[in-house]
Amino acid sequence: MMTDEHKNLIGLERDELAAELAAIGEKPFRAKQLWHWIYHRGEGDFAKMTTLSKEARPKLAERFRITRPEIATEQKSQDRSRKWLLRFDDGNEAECVFIPEDDRGALCISSQVGCTLTCPFCHTGTQRLVRNLSAAEIVGQMMIARDACGEWPSPKGGRMLSNIVMMGMGEPLYNFDNVAKALRIIMDPEGISVSKRRITLSTSGVVPMMARCGDELGVNLAVSLHACTDDLRDQLVPINRKHPIKELLKACRAYPGANNARRITFEYVMLEGVNDSAADAKELLRLVRGIPAKFNLIPFNPWPGAPFECSSPATMKRFAQILNDSGLSAPIRAPRGRDIMAACGQLKSASQRQRRKSTAPKDAPKTAIMDAGE
Ligand code: SAH
Ligand code: SF4
Repeated sequence: MMTDEHKNLIGLERDELAAELAAIGEKPFRAKQLWHWIYHRGEGDFAKMTTLSKEARPKLAERFRITRPEIATEQKSQDRSRKWLLRFDDGNEAECVFIPEDDRGALCISSQVGCTLTCPFCHTGTQRLVRNLSAAEIVGQMMIARDACGEWPSPKGGRMLSNIVMMGMGEPLYNFDNVAKALRIIMDPEGISVSKRRITLSTSGVVPMMARCGDELGVNLAVSLHACTDDLRDQLVPINRKHPIKELLKACRAYPGANNARRITFEYVMLEGVNDSAADAKELLRLVRGIPAKFNLIPFNPWPGAPFECSSPATMKRFAQILNDSGLSAPIRAPRGRDIMAACGQLKSASQRQRRKSTAPKDAPKTAIMDAGE
């Protein structure tokens, strides 16, 4: 029987894995073997690790486990997108979405349960931050999607799960350490091996962390711009009050590794009558001058009680055309998975932040799940 006393090996970096094994008297090559089984082969059962000696297998199973998050529910969209609601060891839940194309596909990974930020067009933003996800819980999302795609051992090419977008629930740069650790594991060439060029991290504009994201991870950056004046962006993306547009664009100009071949994506949600005029498009062009930029126009995805409407197709087309006329790519994203509430900004879980009672002992868990009936 596996218990919490068994330490989960998923989410440990190579040196941490080596240290765990050294502590029980195993040689360093064991860590390399295990890494290969866990992250290249996707194996979770020590007994099946045939390159390990017969003595080593039960010894490891006695102390460790290799467990993914539990799948609470799985939904499949008419357009073949798949959404998993994952339940973690403490009962908290978060969603993750696989968006297949014909010959490839992107996994949209969550970084937090809920979000501290409160962008009013985003469903996740209505859920208070419950907690950061651990590296294990972030890597676990990738492993579950890999299981579903049947892509173990790590294929060299031709993968259905070919790309990763850190665009699920939460603000990844507010959980940088765990996100960075998870992405380093995911990028490791002897394991899951997704190239940094196929990973895009989206931020609402956590300016102080952007340089580290580029320097230490080198992944593609997407920035949720959504407005071209501070007045409007203060409303739509409240982090703007702390890090206004000018500061944000300065960090974009300095983003390590950005060039004309690897552009920064500016995400722009199309909200009818709010940010979708021709004047807005022209102002956007002025703002991004000098930045290797491309746009991603996201039709607003509705959710129950949302205080916005999506711009009309004609308005979106006109908006895109103005950007295109200046030579900038600005595709209008076809919404995916709307029927299962899996599209951008529709993710939310029922996990709630528990009010801290003054009588609660100091070491009481700070979070809890309220399920059914919510
Ligand atoms: N917290 C990060 C990443 C997650 S959101 C961020 O804000 O960038 C991924 C993208 O979906 C962001 O650009 C976000 O602004 C956008 N989004 C949020 N709610 C949306 C909605 N209802 N419709 C369309 N896009 C939305
Ligand atoms: Fe958080 Fe991003 Fe949603 Fe804003 S758009 S509330 S930053 S998840």
